[in-house]
Amino acid sequence: MSDEDAGPSLADAFFAPEPAPRSPVAGGRADFDPEDWGAFRALAEQVAAACVDRIEGARELPWRPTPDLVKFELDEPAPTGGAPLEQVMGRVLSDIMPHATGNTHPRFFGWVHGTGLADGLLAAMVEAAMNSNCGGRDHAALYVERQVISWMCGLFGFGERASGVLVSGASMATLYALLAARRRAREVCGDEIAAERLTVYAAEGAHACVDKACDVLGLPARNLRKIPLTQGRRMSLRALRSMLARDRDAGFTPMAVVGTVGGVETGASDDLVKMAGIAKAEAVWLHVDGAFGAWARLARGPWRAQADGIDRADSLGFDFHKWPSVNYDCGCVLIRDGDLHRRTFSNRPNYLTSADDGLAGGDPWFCDYGLELSRSFRALKVWIALKTHGLERLGAVVDKCCRQARRMADRVQAARGLSLCFEPKLNVVCFRPDAPELSDAEADALVTRAAAAMQRAGEAVFSTARIDGRMALRAAIVNHRTRDADIDAAVAAAEAVCLRLRGLRGAT
Ligand SMILES: *Cc1c(COP(=O)(O)O)cnc(C)c1O
Repeated sequence: MSDEDAGPSLADAFFAPEPAPRSPVAGGRADFDPEDWGAFRALAEQVAAACVDRIEGARELPWRPTPDLVKFELDEPAPTGGAPLEQVMGRVLSDIMPHATGNTHPRFFGWVHGTGLADGLLAAMVEAAMNSNCGGRDHAALYVERQVISWMCGLFGFGERASGVLVSGASMATLYALLAARRRAREVCGDEIAAERLTVYAAEGAHACVDKACDVLGLPARNLRKIPLTQGRRMSLRALRSMLARDRDAGFTPMAVVGTVGGVETGASDDLVKMAGIAKAEAVWLHVDGAFGAWARLARGPWRAQADGIDRADSLGFDFHKWPSVNYDCGCVLIRDGDLHRRTFSNRPNYLTSADDGLAGGDPWFCDYGLELSRSFRALKVWIALKTHGLERLGAVVDKCCRQARRMADRVQAARGLSLCFEPKLNVVCFRPDAPELSDAEADALVTRAAAAMQRAGEAVFSTARIDGRMALRAAIVNHRTRDADIDAAVAAAEAVCLRLRGLRGAT
């Protein structure tokens, strides 16, 4: 019998030194830190360089379909053991990073997608290093968010008593605003007021996030009154007034009117000045959805007037990830009555009590101004972007995009076989093939195919929208990277693809 077979005696086991740490193989460790910080640093530098290359080369990288092999490889069982980080990051750089939405490309005009900022890369790194939880407590991140909110209250004329909070986007901002509006209605009419009695008013064509917010609030769908548009594609205020009167007569309690600056389909804006007058006279909450359009307030050109009256709203939602190009995601809601805002959301159990001193200080906490308790440090990328570029440059980008929308409209009118759906008011341009040989249904199908063909070819990204019942190619230009030549090339591509799909020879 060898010694080994005998095994350690009890005494041996008792007097044995602490076992040496197990070798850091998969499954043998119980922490997540790198084993070798030097190797990690080298890898981090490599990844950072690849990311900088990716942004610097954004002009050469339009959207591309995700290869089937990549999709296949992204359908595997959950890993039980780990793999070396170099290997995992290698796959990220080769398989995932090149197949993004494409909104970093200068000829991306689809939906309303922000383009992103190079400084966002640095913000993301610092944000990850700090790993702050911005629900509350006393740390620098909260002072940064408060700074951003106070800048925005100043910019949009929300005054000293206003408050705000950063959210994922304008959809969430709309929900928060309507929750505050309902709080107001309950404080006036009593908590027991039934959702069936509450009504909300928005123009036909208002963003679907208004429908979703009303649904979350438990309002029956019909209690969101869709007010018809005028010829100028803004809410008919005559119709709004008569609907309000009719609802009051029928025993409803009008809770909120939602105005839009920068409508998602056409870029048109409601007459916020007059709406604010009506809302005040009727004692109804005015929420403004300014997801991208609110930034018209920074324009120097004629587009600025679209945002007139925004400073009279009770609440405003807007996105940093659209026109300001702050990297996804970040929106903001401002509420004029900051105390009401807090009463809407503050509901802190004892384990979240704040203190006068220490880390549990720093009142007010952002968790009292929204639904999220744990929150990321969204404010950092916004603060860095605003400090770096300043409001003036942001205004210049807004001007540039609106001028480019005008240029796109002019090019469309000069193109063969395309027709403009309306004169652009801000930064949204819609057009469709002018194809007398096709039925309406065929022309609609052609639009969808043309959009997909241009996307697949990496020529330009337009989305589609139904304007006056007919499909159109739609560009919402919030792209700081777009140059005039990109506008010309995109319209030329649309002209050529529409002619080709109609079986006609291109002009060029
Ligand atoms: C984009 C947009 C929204 C939704 O914003 P998200 O940030 O995507 O949640 C709402 N309203 C309008 C007018 C928009 O353009």
